[in-house]
Amino acid sequence: MKIDILTLFPEMFPAVLSAGVVGRAAERGLLTFSVTDIREHTTDRHRSVDDYPFGGGAGQLLAAQPIFAALQAIGPAAAEAAGGLPPPCRLIYLSPRGRVLDHGLARELAGEERLVLLCGHYEGVDQRVLDAFPFEEVSIGDYVLTGGEIPAMALIDAVCRLVPGVLGSEDSHREESVYSGLLEYPQYTRPASYEGLDVPEVLLSGNHREIELWNFEQALRLTAARRPEMLRSWAAAHLSTLDKKKKALAEAVLREL
Ligand code: SAM
Repeated sequence: MKIDILTLFPEMFPAVLSAGVVGRAAERGLLTFSVTDIREHTTDRHRSVDDYPFGGGAGQLLAAQPIFAALQAIGPAAAEAAGGLPPPCRLIYLSPRGRVLDHGLARELAGEERLVLLCGHYEGVDQRVLDAFPFEEVSIGDYVLTGGEIPAMALIDAVCRLVPGVLGSEDSHREESVYSGLLEYPQYTRPASYEGLDVPEVLLSGNHREIELWNFEQALRLTAARRPEMLRSWAAAHLSTLDKKKKALAEAVLREL
């Protein structure tokens, strides 16, 4: 997968793109990143990229010209999308007005060959950028940050770990919170007893079926306590597919909701 990032602050990205799982995947050639400095594409003689909004209002806006030019520069493919051709890549503007990023969207984006991420600043971008190019707006939550760089990093991290081959084991995210439709059960590592705090006995029993049922029940109870709406929609989709014991456990937790 190739990810292009358009930003006013390219210096924020190298650490995130070269460290950990994402960095290793880039070294292995599974991910390619390209960071474009929007300011490099301004035609303004003072290298300015922002201006005041017509009609008044607080703050400045990122102007259309340097963004159009940056999109042209990263490849005619992205620019052609403005002409109504089928988009060869997904264009994403990080924005608090957008569709909120969740696991479903991350999984969808992980299947794309190329993403172009536009990081806004100031009060956002000139609307003509969003009208001329098929940008989808994506938010990382109902709060406002000063720029789109941290949202872009969050999206990159959530999406890239779902690209096949990026995580060591393809199974490692199967049981994670949200992926399975339930929040993840609590987990413990050695030692079995620490400062008088003991690991639940069942996890030391070696009985795989008992451990599986315990983990499942913990996931149900945690989801019921923290995200009851998530538990209800999980149940609607999965209850009928469960074996007898798991179904009984799930029904008991659902009755307590
Ligand atoms: N005036 C804009 C509004 O009310 O929608 C907010 C602009 S914000 C101060 C500056 C930039 O930060 C935005 O253009 C966007 O790229 C980014 N941003 C801020 N909060 C975000 C969020 N929750 N999700 C994604 N991007 C966000």
